[in-house]
Amino acid sequence: MAAQILDGKSLAALVRAGVKARVERLSQRGIRPGLGVILAGDDPASRVYVRNKQRACEETGVHSKLFGFDASVSETQLLQRLEALNSDPAIHGILVQLPLPRHIDAARVLEAVSPAKDIDGFHAANLGALLAGAPRFVPCTPAGVMRLLEHAGVPLAGRRAVVIGRSNIVGKPLALLLLQKDATVTICHSKSVNLGSITREAEILVAAAGRAKLVTADMVKPGACVIDVGVNRGADGKLAGDVDFDAVKAVAGWITPVPGGVGPMTIAMLLENCLHAAENESAT
Ligand code: NAD
Repeated sequence: MAAQILDGKSLAALVRAGVKARVERLSQRGIRPGLGVILAGDDPASRVYVRNKQRACEETGVHSKLFGFDASVSETQLLQRLEALNSDPAIHGILVQLPLPRHIDAARVLEAVSPAKDIDGFHAANLGALLAGAPRFVPCTPAGVMRLLEHAGVPLAGRRAVVIGRSNIVGKPLALLLLQKDATVTICHSKSVNLGSITREAEILVAAAGRAKLVTADMVKPGACVIDVGVNRGADGKLAGDVDFDAVKAVAGWITPVPGGVGPMTIAMLLENCLHAAENESAT
């Protein structure tokens, strides 16, 4: 039987509707959630991501302000802008669009975001809180994956989960979140040997490597839940994930499409995190 498609687009629309209602309630108390976005350089994909995020903000009533910089921007200029945003009471969440130009130390810039406004959850304080099992801001893509799993009722406790990819923004935080839900988690990466023998054990398999068609049908346990985080642009200009969707959907129990799976959930979680930041601020 073909896999059930996990429709991130419609779940994201539900989440956004919830955010919109809560933004309205907050605005009755005179608070409008505000997002400050830093975009440095002219990477076309980053421009599209930022535009989509800002559009989603507009739709839900979150105020967003873009600070664009040339690729030649200095680290000091970015740090100064962050300092101003950190102390701006109209800004509750700060987003630094990655990748930053090569000459910038991205880790130093991300650490300069106030942890209370770090709605991407990339600051070491927030990653540490997640590691300690008391998450504050959870990185948006892993949070979106967990929401998809929860909404579909995919069992996690005691199940074997395999995450392909060990980045700080996707693979590692997602592995921690799955662990918190009592899954038995394995992380694979570019140096893992015989990937298929590991992925075939997975009841939940997440691909976050950025390699088109890395996951083929023979690497998937029948009935598994396959989540495709990857975004790869083919020679034809079309987007594809890391999973060979057509072949794998015949084997898996659940599967996310690309586009329309994890991507829309990432933006929905960003809005939720921004709302939380504003609600937290209003409670202090
Ligand atoms: P990254 O490049 O930082 O990390 C990739 C990881 O994959 C690394 O840990 C690497 O060891 C591993 N890897 C690479 N090739 C591999 C292979 N052949 N076998 C096993 N592991 C391998 O990337 P990232 O930022 O974690 O993003 C991963 C993918 O997810 C990218 O395609 C990115 O565009 C996409 N992404 C999508 C969203 C979304 O909202 N849908 C958000 C963030 C990232």
